[in-house]
Amino acid sequence: MEKALYLNGNWVKAGEYTGLYSPYDGEFLANIPVASAGQMEEAIQFAKNAETSMKQLTSLEKSNILLQICYQFEHRKEEAARIIVKETAKPMKFALAEIDRTIETYRFAAEEVKRLAGELVPMDAAKNGANKFAYTLHEPIGTVAAITPFNFPQNLVAHKVGPAIAAGNPVILKPASQTPLSALFLAELIHNTELPKGAFQVLTGSGSQIGDYLVLHEDIKMITFTGSPEVGKSIKMKADLKRVSLELGSNAGCIIDNEVDLPAIAKKCIVGAFSNQGQVCISLQRTYVMEDSYQPFIDEFKKLTKALKIGNPLSLETDISAMINKKETQRAKAWIDEAVNLGATIEYGGEIINEVLQPTILANVPSEARISCQEAFAPVVIINKISTVEDGISEINNSIYGLQAGIFTNNISKALKASKSLQVGGVIINDIPTFRVDQMPYGGVKNSGTGREGIKYALEEMTEMKLVVWNEG
Ligand code: NAD
Repeated sequence: MEKALYLNGNWVKAGEYTGLYSPYDGEFLANIPVASAGQMEEAIQFAKNAETSMKQLTSLEKSNILLQICYQFEHRKEEAARIIVKETAKPMKFALAEIDRTIETYRFAAEEVKRLAGELVPMDAAKNGANKFAYTLHEPIGTVAAITPFNFPQNLVAHKVGPAIAAGNPVILKPASQTPLSALFLAELIHNTELPKGAFQVLTGSGSQIGDYLVLHEDIKMITFTGSPEVGKSIKMKADLKRVSLELGSNAGCIIDNEVDLPAIAKKCIVGAFSNQGQVCISLQRTYVMEDSYQPFIDEFKKLTKALKIGNPLSLETDISAMINKKETQRAKAWIDEAVNLGATIEYGGEIINEVLQPTILANVPSEARISCQEAFAPVVIINKISTVEDGISEINNSIYGLQAGIFTNNISKALKASKSLQVGGVIINDIPTFRVDQMPYGGVKNSGTGREGIKYALEEMTEMKLVVWNEG
């Protein structure tokens, strides 16, 4: 099967194609077009032309277009989820949950566009501001390039396409090389809406070639990127004065205090550590448990891990399947082995069986081991002992990343202290750092990125604030 690029409302062939295969069983999925430099340039010019028609849409029209996307996802939910399963080996139950969230994300965009308002500026607070009346407007920033990762091929795209449309911007989507089919499926849905031609386009092909072309082009006004810190940093260096939003990786940590409900917490932590094979930017990677809770927590966590079903991602029963490719699986295994050589113990798992890395629990992991200080992005969780909550805070802060962190405690002053001291974009009290709903502000500090997503916040970032001052005489 040969797929096509989606440019200016048309399905367009490419001169070159690459094969796409399922990470789980190697099944051939499709031949994916590789956009040429000429096609990238065309896409940018089509988008630029669409800027005027996007600007003319009313808030109500934009809201209705976004709702049209929601309705179509609702009708084709299983199909959309199946594509994710095939492309990424994400187990079906998580893929279905992703489509539910995708619908919610576009719905938030449909609602938020109606609330995008400027503000009155109290000019007469300044000596020279008397008799001046002023207000701000949010105008579309212009063509947005959205560069997205493989791990949530619909919902993380929705976090860029939703607010871009709501803000009145054309958007060119460059999906991850492993997930072009989800992006082209979205194009099918958007094709059926009233969005002006050229306001949504999909370029598939090489990440670095398309990425560079978009990042360096003067007609692209904003880059919204979600992916690895390495690529994020290279984009930021090249982007000149363009606005750049970067949602990058992390090695998220969680503190578990004494006197908390350990079985309930272990259940949450299993979801945080192993959903989507741990390939989640806020996956629970490092767990710091107080001495008295330590052994009971490990015992409970092991019991739940043993019960996880490993296998074909198409089965609704499956909890864990293959990682995105063999190279990443081998990389994670090498990091586990390195930690063991540095003194860590494997409490469970640690082996690759039929190409699938077992869900793995490591204890006593030194902080210099890569599985601790780098982003694991694999079904591996560290459980280390601490003697004070402050120690847990220092361990979490001892990181080049800072996306989200969690703390389970019944002690309000410890919770308050953690919320003030943790160097992250979001502190989640009495839940895992993996917790996210799609309207909340979301983003990181340090190497975890710059800018905030969450529809309202991304929408504002995708606009230019304009000030209007009236001299009343
Ligand atoms: P990646 O950085 O390899 O790729 C992301 C995107 O960048 C892909 O579309 C890729 O084709 C493109 N790309 C590759 N080279 C490029 C270049 N030179 N210029 C421009 N674009 C280029 O990331 P991935 O492996 O797809 O995803 C995993 C990473 O994403 C992890 O680090 C994870 O933590 C991060 N992530 C972050 C968030 C968040 O919200 N903070 C969410 C999901 C994933």
